[in-house]
Amino acid sequence: MALVLVVEDNPANLKLVTLLLVHAGHDVLSAADAESGLTTARTQQPDLILMDVQLPGMDGLAATALLKADLRTAAIPIIALTALAMKADAERGRLAGCAAYITKPLRRFELYETIDRLLADPTADLDPQHAEAVLL
Ligand code: MN
Repeated sequence: MALVLVVEDNPANLKLVTLLLVHAGHDVLSAADAESGLTTARTQQPDLILMDVQLPGMDGLAATALLKADLRTAAIPIIALTALAMKADAERGRLAGCAAYITKPLRRFELYETIDRLLADPTADLDPQHAEAVLL
């Protein structure tokens, strides 16, 4: 069980993700935009963040980069959620500091498997170059 922050502007998606997380025994915090997500991450220190890429205003990858640049939140693993299954977006996500990348529509077992893997080892999915940057 973990405390998971979901940053997602679509109410239906947020409801689905929340149901899936609660079903798996997690506690859920939510934010509908990047700015409030950053505040919640800093104040509540979740164990993991699910970050929608497409958000109003600041996008999820920009928010991820800010979280990774902040010592208070840098160690929190972030899973990017996006409807865009483009290879270039996966790469952009990794460069921003996302530990993993899930495309919508969500498949519950992929979600659970990715969360469990990252909770067991928060740096598991980081490429060596980025892991080194984080450690430095
Ligand atoms: Mn969105």
